[in-house]
Amino acid sequence: MSQTTGFFTDSTLCIGCKACEVACKEWNGLAEDGLDWTGFSYDNTAAVGHSTWRHVKFVENDTIAGLGGNSALQPGWEFSSDVCKHCEVAGCLEACPTGSIVRTEFGGVFVQPDVCNGCAYCVTACPFGVVQKNQKDGRAFKCTFCADRQKAGLKPACASVCPTESIKFGELNELRGDAQVRLEELRSKGIEDAEIYDPQHTSVKGVHAFFLVRGNPKSYNLPPNPEVPTTYLKDGWRSAAIGSAMFVAAALFAFLGGKQ
Ligand code: SF4
Ligand code: SF4
Repeated sequence: MSQTTGFFTDSTLCIGCKACEVACKEWNGLAEDGLDWTGFSYDNTAAVGHSTWRHVKFVENDTIAGLGGNSALQPGWEFSSDVCKHCEVAGCLEACPTGSIVRTEFGGVFVQPDVCNGCAYCVTACPFGVVQKNQKDGRAFKCTFCADRQKAGLKPACASVCPTESIKFGELNELRGDAQVRLEELRSKGIEDAEIYDPQHTSVKGVHAFFLVRGNPKSYNLPPNPEVPTTYLKDGWRSAAIGSAMFVAAALFAFLGGKQ
């Protein structure tokens, strides 16, 4: 059996170089995003999307005192490389009506472009806003978890090029252990706001791309309680069935009672 692989992204090591974004585009032949000024950040790619499967977010914090005594206040910067979370229970996969979205032998979630019919149900079902429809092409696209490279025994392109090893790739449970060790190391150095983001407590049941961040995960576009929308469907159908059964029983009772 193939091992279940994952990404552990330690954002405390990210320097915002965007080498991962470029490597992903190069390997997958994705179009460039232009070097436009977004108007709200020095980050020109803004978010993950149909042609940006890795995105290095620039988190601009309150100003802090610069180093060296008399230096002026400076903006505080954090960076983090975002990607599809390859959810344990994936909203996109649950919602896909054509079977285009499948789970691979590596535990990743893969959109088969030749089966996608462009309905975009996956787009609204993703709790992380990852998968996006290319309006010109008509189909939905997102990170493939470099399934082709993994099959060939290679690391995903993004993890291969990260110069600071902020993006770690490996066996998922081993990475979870490494993340705990790193968290304890940071906390022992007084970095109390470090925390691991791996939502195992919600209907997503954990992710194959988890993060170590400082401060509020929401600043990194990581929702505190991501939920799989179809989780509530079964309860909805059960309530509707119980309601219908009670209605039929009441009608029967009234009918039979009226006859006596
Ligand atoms: S993050 Fe979104 S697109 Fe990625 S596996 Fe989860 S639900 Fe699917
Ligand atoms: S795993 Fe591959 S497809 Fe996904 S972000 Fe990294 S380089 Fe891109």
